[in-house]
Amino acid sequence: MRLILLGPPGAGKGTQADLVAAQYNIPKLSTGDMLRAEVASGSSLGKELQAVMSSGALVSDDIMIALIRARIVREDCAKGFILDGFPRTVGQAQALDEMLTDIGCPLNAVIELAVQDDALVARISGRYACAQCGAGYHDRFKKPVTDGVCDLCGSTQFSRRADDSVETVTKRLTNYHAQTAPLLPYYQRTGLLKSLDGMAPIHEVTAQLLSALKAAEAA
Ligand code: AMP
Repeated sequence: MRLILLGPPGAGKGTQADLVAAQYNIPKLSTGDMLRAEVASGSSLGKELQAVMSSGALVSDDIMIALIRARIVREDCAKGFILDGFPRTVGQAQALDEMLTDIGCPLNAVIELAVQDDALVARISGRYACAQCGAGYHDRFKKPVTDGVCDLCGSTQFSRRADDSVETVTKRLTNYHAQTAPLLPYYQRTGLLKSLDGMAPIHEVTAQLLSALKAAEAA
């Protein structure tokens, strides 16, 4: 299964990608996570990335395409992968098409999680993650079972993303509409795009997503 999850920041791509990755036993390739790992490494590239990301802008296509090109040829992607946060521009989508044609592995599905803008700021500004294992939580929509303790690893340390502030989110949404939303007609033309209601509860979105993937596999 080679899948792209599209949608604005806060649409739930990361949460759904984790669930599909577990179901299909394939890796989630989150470019945001890869970039944050580079920032955390303290490298000089990481410092440059941090400046771009904290302003809410997009990292250059050249860097992103090279990152994904190196990642999808790795052994663990042989059975497929889920792209979360890539592509984000038409240039990235075209480069991805070329890469997949080169390795003879076309995409199976592109799923959009559609969410209204006004819901996104509330969603994003309430989210946080376990500092130990990265499991995602939300102040209102997804609290740990035991307050202050990660459900998955038991850690009591949590962190919030620096670019989840209201100002940066607003900038990221503006960028989404200008640079990433044009991917919807791009993938519509390929016949691979399916849009789901990302406002539905998490488990309903997952159920719809898994049934869309079954249909894509049977096609
Ligand atoms: P995300 O975790 O997907 O919301 O990404 C966080 C930030 O990383 C974005 O706001 C961008 O600055 C950067 N980023 C992640 N993926 C991409 C991409 N495919 N193209 C350009 N910038 C990206």
